[in-house]
Amino acid sequence: MRLLRSAFSAALFIWIFASVKPQHAGTASGFPRTVRVRLWYLQPPSALKLKAEPGQAKLRKCGICAEASLTLLSLRATGSQIQLLGETQSTTEIRVSGLYEASTGNGPPLRADFPVTIRSNQGKLLITATMPMEEYVAGVLAGETGSFKSDETLKAMAVTARTYAMHFGARHALDGFDFCDSTHCQNLRLAGITPRLRKLAESTTGEVLWYDGEPAAAYYHANCGGTTEDGRYILGNTEQRAPYLNQHSDTYCIRSASSQWRSEISKQDLQHALAAEGIAVPGKLRSVAVAKRTASGRVEFLTVAGTQSITVPGLAFRLAVGRNIGWDRMKSNWYDMRVNGNRIVFQGRGSGHGVGLCQVGAEVMGEEGRSYREILAYYYPGTRMGVSAQGTQWQQLSSEDVVLFTERPQRDCVLLPLATQMMHDAESSTGLLYNGAVKLKVYSTVAAFRDATGEPGWIAASTRGDTIRLQPTETLKDSSALDSTLRHELLHMLVESHAKPGTPLWFREGLVLYLSQADGVSKNTATFTNTDAVNRALRSPASEVELRQAYAAAQARVVQMITKNGRAEVIRWLQEGLPKQ
Ligand SMILES: [Zn+2]
Ligand SMILES: [Zn+2]
Repeated sequence: MRLLRSAFSAALFIWIFASVKPQHAGTASGFPRTVRVRLWYLQPPSALKLKAEPGQAKLRKCGICAEASLTLLSLRATGSQIQLLGETQSTTEIRVSGLYEASTGNGPPLRADFPVTIRSNQGKLLITATMPMEEYVAGVLAGETGSFKSDETLKAMAVTARTYAMHFGARHALDGFDFCDSTHCQNLRLAGITPRLRKLAESTTGEVLWYDGEPAAAYYHANCGGTTEDGRYILGNTEQRAPYLNQHSDTYCIRSASSQWRSEISKQDLQHALAAEGIAVPGKLRSVAVAKRTASGRVEFLTVAGTQSITVPGLAFRLAVGRNIGWDRMKSNWYDMRVNGNRIVFQGRGSGHGVGLCQVGAEVMGEEGRSYREILAYYYPGTRMGVSAQGTQWQQLSSEDVVLFTERPQRDCVLLPLATQMMHDAESSTGLLYNGAVKLKVYSTVAAFRDATGEPGWIAASTRGDTIRLQPTETLKDSSALDSTLRHELLHMLVESHAKPGTPLWFREGLVLYLSQADGVSKNTATFTNTDAVNRALRSPASEVELRQAYAAAQARVVQMITKNGRAEVIRWLQEGLPKQ
């Protein structure tokens, strides 16, 4: 599975004195029945052959062309055009539906009965299939759990895969599809779907694990090695409230075969692998040692020594080895090491990141007669399984750039065009572009907002990862804070998504305040002796007053920088780092 981009957390302070009235909405949330999947995502083909029995498949040679029947067709990508073999005209889009076979000349042909749209970009064919969610889930079972014996384990994995898909569904929204077919999303192997896998996926149709009214971040991995990892190590701060991903010991997988592994990597290969990921070791790499472990015992930070020592996060280290030397060389982050001449010897246990469901443990549970519900309850404690949201009943409205979650679409729908427009304005005023879709979650009561975010009631909004959580629309309107809150949080998303890792909080916060032209912020900036103190106050303010002062100090500092160096230059620093002082 993969890493998320760096986490951030921000909260806008405003004065709110709201009455708290519990409310409940009772409509079922929309469940996506079809998904759009980009096939051959990692290696898009430049040519494709399509074949069908007469009368079985249909073809459109452009978006608005009439339907013709498909028997045999060869395509080749040239630039952004698709060349049809034997025809002089080229086209930009082809649509196929019915029952057909598609082959790229590389690997077995795909026999499919779902519609595909084919486009071309830089001489590569971009092939997007629209398929039923349950077919996607069966394809993920084939790709991720091929050898499982227990039906109950496979059913647990089907629910996990569906939940994971729904949680992370907006990853490729900008490119016009939902999921790619690689492990970046979930490993999809359509050719490996068997009637058994299809039947097991369908027997759990629509079942999803819910937490806080949302599909859970249902991470899974091959083998935890005896203790799962706490979700925050791969989620960062983006999902602070994911207690179902807490670390716990796994009494099942340890009954299976040993998960120990050993691997030797030369210092030189290691240095090259790190360099390829932008981690420069000064001089020649001499040694590697663990600097800090997580509570489960996995490596959180390493010290890599050349002529000087640098600290490297364990996740980045494993990513570098995996991508550049091979994923089998460092199966997990749970290991010890020693230097042996010019080689480093790693000895470890487990396979994968260790967060969420342990596949080996789940298989042991299934073989011991546990039900898929028991397996899911063991690995995702505190989630609830159901075909619709439990507790909070989110409904989803979306524009191209914003996904709005609300319990009361009629009241909150005004936020969708408002947020979309504000994001566009923020993009054009900064020259920065937001990559992906912003999620906007509007709670229908102040109490629900507080429960879900852990923020006090005087915080108007809280932003984590790609989700902005807002107090009820009318609460914000009553305090005339709706526009300013929304603008502030959207600017945060934009600023954070472009911030160079390590950019100090006071600078990001001050820049957002400057860009949102916040007024009403206290001019009392005298209380902080340095930027570290401002950071501390922003991160964990002792009071509302202190937070207000910290905002003012951060803003004043950024305004000063902009007056001296110009706005464009200061925005550039966001992406490239602040100049040394
Ligand atoms: Zn993907
Ligand atoms: Zn395990």
